[in-house]
Amino acid sequence: MLLEVQHIRKQFQNLTHALADVSFSVGQGEFVSVIGPSGAGKTTLFRILNGAIRCDGGAVLMNGVHFETAAGRARRTIQKTIGTIYQDFALVENATCRQNVLNACLPDMTFLPAVLGLFGKERTAEADALLTRVGLADKVEEPVKNLSGGQKQRVAIARALMRHPAILLADEPVASLDPVTGRQILELLRDIQRDQGLTILMNSHNLELSREFSGRLIGLRQGLVVFDDGADTPSEDILATVYGGQEQLS
Ligand code: ADP
Repeated sequence: MLLEVQHIRKQFQNLTHALADVSFSVGQGEFVSVIGPSGAGKTTLFRILNGAIRCDGGAVLMNGVHFETAAGRARRTIQKTIGTIYQDFALVENATCRQNVLNACLPDMTFLPAVLGLFGKERTAEADALLTRVGLADKVEEPVKNLSGGQKQRVAIARALMRHPAILLADEPVASLDPVTGRQILELLRDIQRDQGLTILMNSHNLELSREFSGRLIGLRQGLVVFDDGADTPSEDILATVYGGQEQLS
């Protein structure tokens, strides 16, 4: 298994059990969506997976290697294999698309070339190829601030791919986009998943889009996994199990 999440727990200082006991695994090349009502623990789970916070108990393994308990260099090595894209894109607005994609290389570079922005021909060619792959060949030298939301998310995808991630965490990737643009971004992610065997774990509040684009859904509710099944499961069944029949999704 590429990613194994084993009985992870997370309690915040205010005693909220954001994650009570969460276990699941994701295989190479899968497109899995994490769904669930507001407060279910989705964001906390993603923050643990991208290394922003640590869990209180349990284990996270990437390719069989413990990620949660790893420290220092070992943790950074595993972390490099995890790419993330965010709802708000998290790009440098004044920098060009190429520069934003190249920034993904900074953690691997030595001090001086990094400070001077000396990325080299090879990296630059790869950044341009990735921007072409996401449909932005004509925007390579455009400052990100001049782009639409959908185009910005495309730059963020290219930046994540620049690190050759084993898994891409997509944290509400289309929540800031209009429905048509959001669908185009998910189509792009699915194409890359199919063409390159990229593994994607998405957190989305849009059940219908999650059903359409992922192969499998993991439903969280009150910090527990209450659903783990194919995305072709009828919506009514998912709504009843994961949202308790609530109309209001979040
Ligand atoms: P979701 O992303 O599914 O909406 P979250 O992971 O954001 O859920 O939150 C799960 C629970 O943990 C909620 O009850 C939330 O209030 C709580 N929580 C999340 N982050 C913190 C924090 N930093 N401090 C205290 N409680 C938190």
